[in-house]
Amino acid sequence: MERLECHVKEYAWGKYGDNSEVARLYAAGHKRFNIGQNVPYAELWMGTHPDGPAKLAKCSTKLSSFLARSKSASFLSNNNAKNDVHLPFIMKVMSIRTTLSLQVHPTKEQAARLHELDPIHYPDRHHKPELAYALTEFQLLCGFRPADQIAENLQAFPCLRALMGEKNCLRLENAIATEEDKQSLICRTALGSCFRQMMNLARDKPDLVEDLVDELIENLNDGTRGCLMEETVRVMKKMNVDFPGDVGVFSPLFLNHMILQPGECCYYAAEELHAYLSGECVECVGCSNNTIRAAMTPKFIDRDALCEVLNYRMSSPESYMIPANQLADFPNVEEYAPDCRDFQLHKVTVDPKKCRSALMPPLECASIIVLVRGKAYLEEIGEVGTSQTSNSDICLEDSDFDRRPVTRGDIIYIPPGIRLRFTDCTEFVEAYRTFSYETGPDHENRKIVQLVPPEKLKPRFELTDSEESGIFEVEAECDGCL
Ligand SMILES: [Zn+2]
Repeated sequence: MERLECHVKEYAWGKYGDNSEVARLYAAGHKRFNIGQNVPYAELWMGTHPDGPAKLAKCSTKLSSFLARSKSASFLSNNNAKNDVHLPFIMKVMSIRTTLSLQVHPTKEQAARLHELDPIHYPDRHHKPELAYALTEFQLLCGFRPADQIAENLQAFPCLRALMGEKNCLRLENAIATEEDKQSLICRTALGSCFRQMMNLARDKPDLVEDLVDELIENLNDGTRGCLMEETVRVMKKMNVDFPGDVGVFSPLFLNHMILQPGECCYYAAEELHAYLSGECVECVGCSNNTIRAAMTPKFIDRDALCEVLNYRMSSPESYMIPANQLADFPNVEEYAPDCRDFQLHKVTVDPKKCRSALMPPLECASIIVLVRGKAYLEEIGEVGTSQTSNSDICLEDSDFDRRPVTRGDIIYIPPGIRLRFTDCTEFVEAYRTFSYETGPDHENRKIVQLVPPEKLKPRFELTDSEESGIFEVEAECDGCL
């Protein structure tokens, strides 16, 4: 096991200072870190991606370099000659204050093409499926609404028709009314025409779009609802405060608005339009930093790439939910397993009032675990394939196996094939472990674009202790957030 020092991202949409769980969790694991109250702490990255690489706490070696030299390299990579071996996932904790951009992530094929053409905006060649597990109430927009809801909102809001074009809307309504299968190519093509018209208008006639947003807000103030919940109306008004007159304010009329309660989890792959709205989550993503943005951002909007990748599938919010699967042999572990090879998530809880120890499933793949609360020891009890059983009550004193105290904020890399348990738990433990049996992507040959001369870049954080200085690398300017 290796304790990790990880990377904090400041983005404009992050929660400030002590309000941010990212900052609080990071500070809990790094005692000399001072939280800046005016800093928007948005994301804590736990993975090997070059735009925010984890390092070993004991020596500041990058985890990816350590993996390339470790005996696990053959499990994790098809090419052992590499200097860096990447995990297929990044686990993140996110703290969201304002709406993130309306966005979609490319497929693997599209990512490779986009990186070749435009490495500034598409910093690697990999795809980026995403899973969000709600730590607090967590709101997002995700996927196009079911067809009947879109049809209802088209009837209720004339400004939406004006935005998407009357002819396109009639075609979509006709397709929805006549097609038995609402996922048919005819329905999806009709929705695609509506969407493209909207994006073109946002580019060509932003003043007209602003007027239509005003009309939309007036409609909402007059009590027009279509199929919207009151909470969705509140979100739309907030969007118009954060991004006045932006075409994205219309998006809840045609996208599912999901309000996840703590413990609920959703997943979507490439091709799905989405935007995080508020709250805090554990996120698992593919080891990529590629995002195609549609609206609600001052950053680059790539309308052609966007319209090309969207699948225009109209479906219910439930279809994005991932149920918790209580593992039969491991009563302390719930598994969230989307249809995705890049990551799976285990939630581990240990209640010292019930039992001070908890076994974790042995995984023959690499994983990273983060404690968000609790106090216990994390202990190796052998390797997979040895004779020790999961009920083993062996004495670990004088053993070579690793045993270390862990508490909130600790982030640990676990190599493949290790049997582990929490033990001597004195405070309720809640931990998240991300793992994958896939080999990681190759980021060694990505095109690097340096926009600012290195001598002009200043580190964002500096810790005073010389051993720990240099934990934070300067954030790359090409980190996908231009
Ligand atoms: Zn995303």
